[in-house]
Amino acid sequence: MAEQHAGNQDDGWLDLRSDTVTRPGAAMRAAMHAADVGDDVYGDDPSVNRLQEYAADLFGYEDALFAPSGTQSNLLALLAHCGRGDEYLVGQEAHTYKYEGGGAAVLGSIQPQPIVNQPDGAIALGDIAAYIKPDDFHYARTRLLALENTIGGRVLGLDYTRQATALAHDKGLATHLDGARLCNAAVKLGVSPRAALAGFDSASICLSKGLGAPVGSILCGSRPLIKEAKRWRKMLGGGMRQAGMLAAAGLYALEHHIDRLADDHANAAYFAGELAKMKHITVSTPQTNIFFVDMPAFVCQGLSDVLQLTRIRVSMAPRLRIVTHMDASRDDIERAITVFGDFFG
Ligand SMILES: *Cc1c(COP(=O)(O)O)cnc(C)c1O
Repeated sequence: MAEQHAGNQDDGWLDLRSDTVTRPGAAMRAAMHAADVGDDVYGDDPSVNRLQEYAADLFGYEDALFAPSGTQSNLLALLAHCGRGDEYLVGQEAHTYKYEGGGAAVLGSIQPQPIVNQPDGAIALGDIAAYIKPDDFHYARTRLLALENTIGGRVLGLDYTRQATALAHDKGLATHLDGARLCNAAVKLGVSPRAALAGFDSASICLSKGLGAPVGSILCGSRPLIKEAKRWRKMLGGGMRQAGMLAAAGLYALEHHIDRLADDHANAAYFAGELAKMKHITVSTPQTNIFFVDMPAFVCQGLSDVLQLTRIRVSMAPRLRIVTHMDASRDDIERAITVFGDFFG
């Protein structure tokens, strides 16, 4: 690994609620410290420009835009692809539908058409075709298919994303990927991020999750789409000035932290495998760095108390969710396994 991480050792807590909790390590902080900066609203920040150029090339797009969050980056894409009275097809469980405050509807007058996600996280091709509305003034205009990869830690396969995006294009729709954890998907699939993005007209990638940057997401797309997104970013208050210090962290993350996501996947697989041997719990099999544990409701408070006492944080509601990341070492995972083992036996 490229560097030492301050991480969870700081305060003795092992935080497995999300990969958003990762903290910049010494080398990333050094890159931030050394960053050349300028006013990015004028397009004058060399570090932001470098990040955007690097990301566009890495992910296989004409252009890219640095945004303060994944929520804003997805919203910029929805606003750039769709207008008032348009709609986007989206999974019922998707972040862009369920966890972004209805932003597309509130701010863009864009109607979501949610569609059930299959157990593997995909939207069935038959459902995509069936939900595209005919050109008739009774209906909203179906403009965009938005998928998510990974979704709840599950990876959409290349055959599926190729077929789904081809179907959408064939029907005249644009395609967007919420790729908050696209790099986890690419590492799991054993392909380049660019290959995992084939077929998507735009993609949003979080720098602040498993990649370990403190802040920021990247929106990738065609030059005209990014130009439009930039207008919306300014309107939404996302035009940042000397953002190069943040962009430098993002660039460091893209340069150094993609391949190591395999370690997080291995830690999740190991942790889940050990938990699966314990009594009274059911454990999902992780494909990447996220998995779920189900247990009888009456033990939840007891487990929560024990985790508090032993300084381990997980998400408990609505379901126990564990997320591995670069600030959770194999030793940390061993410690958590011991705690769970003592509790469940
Ligand atoms: C975290 C996440 C986002 C949004 O990212 P924020 O930076 O928290 O706004 C979008 N989509 C998915 C799938 C995510 O996991």
